[in-house]
Amino acid sequence: MQANEQGTAAQQLRIAVYPGSFDPVTYGHLDIIRRSAKQFDQLIVAVLNNTSKNPLFTVEERKEMLREVTSDIPNVTIDSFRDLTVRFVKSRQANVIIRGIRSVTDFEYELTLASTNRLLDSEIDTIFMMTNPKYSYLSSSIVKEIAMFKGYVSELVPEEIEKRLDEKFKSRS
Ligand code: ADP
Repeated sequence: MQANEQGTAAQQLRIAVYPGSFDPVTYGHLDIIRRSAKQFDQLIVAVLNNTSKNPLFTVEERKEMLREVTSDIPNVTIDSFRDLTVRFVKSRQANVIIRGIRSVTDFEYELTLASTNRLLDSEIDTIFMMTNPKYSYLSSSIVKEIAMFKGYVSELVPEEIEKRLDEKFKSRS
């Protein structure tokens, strides 16, 4: 392949960004990650460093957990950002934002978000993935609530995450 052909091939890589809080990553997120990784050459899972939320895990911890649970998916990388999502997406040469939808409530919120992002940068598209019905009720908040009261979360998050939740709540009590 000629050098300029290689350049063109690199430009044509289909790169998507899946942004979120991932506080912590659940089987619902992981399902969206696995399915969207099949649709793109590269998927960047990006932890939003959002100061207005009060997260349980630090950004670094959330990234480590994401790395652990996606280590078997070769085209997934983990990153974080503290900027407008569209600006971060552009900075990574991506042009697609992936979001997951569980319910009509999610849809209404996500529609506002996608419309705003479109207004900010019309070259970036949002693609929605419908939840696997198995996980339609599942959220990071529910997982934290159950784990806080020492409930059983092994059907909701991978084992590594369960351990981290145990450690976190032990160190807090
Ligand atoms: P945010 O704070 O940005 O909503 P989350 O980490 O809660 O971050 O979620 C990131 C994305 O993953 C959102 O698009 C959310 O709707 C989606 N998501 C969360 N849980 C699930 C699930 N169980 N099934 C499908 N999508 C989900």
